[in-house]
Amino acid sequence: MAHSVDLLRPGAREALAEGVKTRGRTPLLGLSKAQMAEAFAEAGIPAKQAKMRASQAYSFAYVHGHRDFAAMHTLGKDARAVLDNKFTLDRPEIVEEHVSSDGTIKWLFRFPSGGAGKPVEVETVYIPEDDRGTLCLSSQVGCTLTCTFCHTGTQRLVRNLTAGEILAQVMVARDHLGDFGKPAHERRVTNIVMMGMGEPLYNFENVRDALLIASDGEALGLSRRRITLSTSGVVPGIVKTGEEIGCGLAISLHATNDELRDELVPINRKYPIAELMQACRDYPGLSNAKRITFEYVMLKGINDSLQEAKELVRLLKGIPAKINLIPFNPWPGSTYECSDWEQIERFAQFVNDNGYASPIRTPRGRDILAACGQLKSESERLRASERKALEASAGQAAMATYPVAMATGHGE
Ligand code: SF4
Repeated sequence: MAHSVDLLRPGAREALAEGVKTRGRTPLLGLSKAQMAEAFAEAGIPAKQAKMRASQAYSFAYVHGHRDFAAMHTLGKDARAVLDNKFTLDRPEIVEEHVSSDGTIKWLFRFPSGGAGKPVEVETVYIPEDDRGTLCLSSQVGCTLTCTFCHTGTQRLVRNLTAGEILAQVMVARDHLGDFGKPAHERRVTNIVMMGMGEPLYNFENVRDALLIASDGEALGLSRRRITLSTSGVVPGIVKTGEEIGCGLAISLHATNDELRDELVPINRKYPIAELMQACRDYPGLSNAKRITFEYVMLKGINDSLQEAKELVRLLKGIPAKINLIPFNPWPGSTYECSDWEQIERFAQFVNDNGYASPIRTPRGRDILAACGQLKSESERLRASERKALEASAGQAAMATYPVAMATGHGE
């Protein structure tokens, strides 16, 4: 049977190569139904059956979360043996798990190298709230961008994650939280945000393929309204995100003029604020029911004046928007300070009075360095003793400065 790899996007090809290289088995996570059918035919399953077997395996893998083909009783013995020999539904290795006093969980996952070099590690964070459970996924190992308030930005890019590796973060969270086999209203992971390590629009195809499987009713079944992609402002990818993924959009804005944004979010030099705002205005399906979230980190004396609040309102005029105000989360070596709480409240009040919802995000998981902008992994991880000392001081700072009761809302 002739096998064409044309259907397989680059990430899948890397994953296939990795499977062959490390275990001789191809990872199935990240493959669409059509890609599975093609891979099954190539593996020797008769062409007439490949499509049906792919449908069964798709549901087996994504809906039920099974990992062992031997349990796939709807398949004949021969087909099961082929799948078991040639494919794998293995999860990444969990290197560390940290549980915050507020219930936030941070996992450090290790994936095989992707064809070359050492295995890579990424962080994924689960944030439970009263009415939802949000999983913050990473799209890259490290990041090419160097947003100055972000810890990940100090870690060089190692490589893009494949679609399978992005999805695997959801699968492991579902495994651990007992979500497989439960009806949607009982699951603990209800929302996904592409807001972890990396710039998702610099890994567009893999992120798109993963999110399409996450939102497929015959796979992970998460509503697109509950999936948000956050970008630092890669303008050419913004409208494409709406057209090809159809999920919610968040913009890492943080400044209202080019001079400051050039410094805080250096990609602004390539795509300045005016172009970014135009791409937002053009976002498909934009309406009051589907607003864009603008993330704004509160940095003391840098971007937190009332004049800036005024500018922010002016900038967003006409865009259905919500503004998430994020108290800055410190990390080792950062030079910024978080704005005073009273100033954050004044800023929020002004924006709110001018018609924009402006929740102040409760810092979550600060005691385990899982809060926004704090993720970092791999070789540059802190030694255990350094981490403990830092976590202790971060936890104390969080409790002293931002009691949860004072927070007024959360990010999407
Ligand atoms: S904020 Fe996002 S895009 Fe900027 S450095 Fe951090 S991970 Fe990269």
